Amino acid sequence: MKRVLITGGSGFLGSHLCDYFVKRDYHVICMDNLSTGDIRNIEHLLPMRNFEFHHHDVTKFVHVPGKLDYILHFASPASPIDYLKMPIQTMKVGSLGTHNLLGLALAKGARILVASTSEVYGDPLVHPQNEEYWGNVNPVGPRGVYDEAKRFMEAITMAYHTFHKVETRIVRIFNTYGPRMRLNDGRALPAFMSQALKGKDITVFGDGSQTRSFCYVSDLVEGIYRLLMSDYPMPVNVGNPIEITIKEFAEEIVQLTNSRSKITYLDLPADDPKVRQPDISKANDILGWQPLVNRSEGLKITLDYFKSLPEFKS
Ligand code: UDP
Repeated sequence: MKRVLITGGSGFLGSHLCDYFVKRDYHVICMDNLSTGDIRNIEHLLPMRNFEFHHHDVTKFVHVPGKLDYILHFASPASPIDYLKMPIQTMKVGSLGTHNLLGLALAKGARILVASTSEVYGDPLVHPQNEEYWGNVNPVGPRGVYDEAKRFMEAITMAYHTFHKVETRIVRIFNTYGPRMRLNDGRALPAFMSQALKGKDITVFGDGSQTRSFCYVSDLVEGIYRLLMSDYPMPVNVGNPIEITIKEFAEEIVQLTNSRSKITYLDLPADDPKVRQPDISKANDILGWQPLVNRSEGLKITLDYFKSLPEFKS
């Protein structure tokens, strides 16, 4: 049985990865310090024989007994509100945490995939963003702690690849949504759905003309698995290239929920990227990957998830 360590395994993306690998008969070691993760995301996996949970902060030395075939490093606060609340931890998990896991990969002879982000492109001056673009990041702005930690993560991962010959993979994840997103993490989708369900005003930041491209979580997980199994060490964008303005996105959610909520416009946060859309030609060419779930389908599943939460059950 192949053994895989998933850090941040009880978070939104991490828990879906745990599901994917458990289903495919891997032995999954899920590691999380639960700072933004939630044990409820993996509760159903706890009784499984091929699943174990380690409550641990990966910025401290990481010890995993036995062999390891793969490591997926997904531990990090990942929404603007979270990394504003935890700026130092965000920097530490991207830097010290990544260093510990690369060291573990070297010691175990494991292949490691690290979760990078479209935030490495900052407020991009190239559109859509391809992997050759180096980005436009403000290191000292509110998003700097996340963006720069992830850029450091990519740099040290390449260093372990070239210097220590560790098998490394780097995925640049664009906006992703689906069940198990945190309701109060400040992201657009949970904020809009929760406001629409409660009949409250929908808070669009700025004039809502900024764009994002939203990928359903099962598509993302499939792309990540294919990248892990490939032999490609350079960064690969994984995301859904269908772009939408945040205003249109808010309107779509109001319609989907049959809500009477009105849109209200608030100040745009500092350094909020004006556009974002992945160029996925690389993922398509190298991994034969493309997203399959369309937004209306994905949003419906996500809405059903939010409605099932205790907060919305009447
Ligand atoms: N946004 C918004 N209202 C909210 C939360 C977010 O208009 O209540 C905007 C935010 O300013 C950004 C976009 O929606 O332009 C996506 O934000 P999110 O936090 O989901 O992701 P990111 O900014 O990291 O892409």
